[in-house]
Amino acid sequence: MSEQNCIFCSIINKKIPATVVVENDDVLVINDIHPKAPVHYLVIPKKHVPDFMMLTDDSMLHNVREMIQKIGASLPGQAFRLLVNNGAGAGQSVFHLHVHMLAGKTMGGF
Ligand code: 5GP
Ligand code: ZN
Repeated sequence: MSEQNCIFCSIINKKIPATVVVENDDVLVINDIHPKAPVHYLVIPKKHVPDFMMLTDDSMLHNVREMIQKIGASLPGQAFRLLVNNGAGAGQSVFHLHVHMLAGKTMGGF
């Protein structure tokens, strides 16, 4: 299910370009266009769900978990930060659920 006017659906459908890190039938991982760390991946379930609060399909979480663990296993020290912004007030700017995966520099605590 893809949504018109959704930039991540357009990337998933290869209508606009992105640097693909890895993908499978369920999840696409791309480089963030404005990286906030040396490694800044966007882990994007291919099914369009606008935000985390709209997520009801546990299999999507399962698929995202498997992908993150696969990528995370190859990062130095298996050190990475995960971030999901839910809602504009929390900084969400693309309303297609995605997980930021940040790594490659020492990150302090919140
Ligand atoms: P959010 O603010 O919704 O949590 O995260 C959206 C992220 O998507 C931002 O970090 C932003 O840099 C990234 N982004 C927005 N448009 C594009 C795009 O066209 N291509 C890629 N690769 N990343 C994008
Ligand atoms: Zn979408």
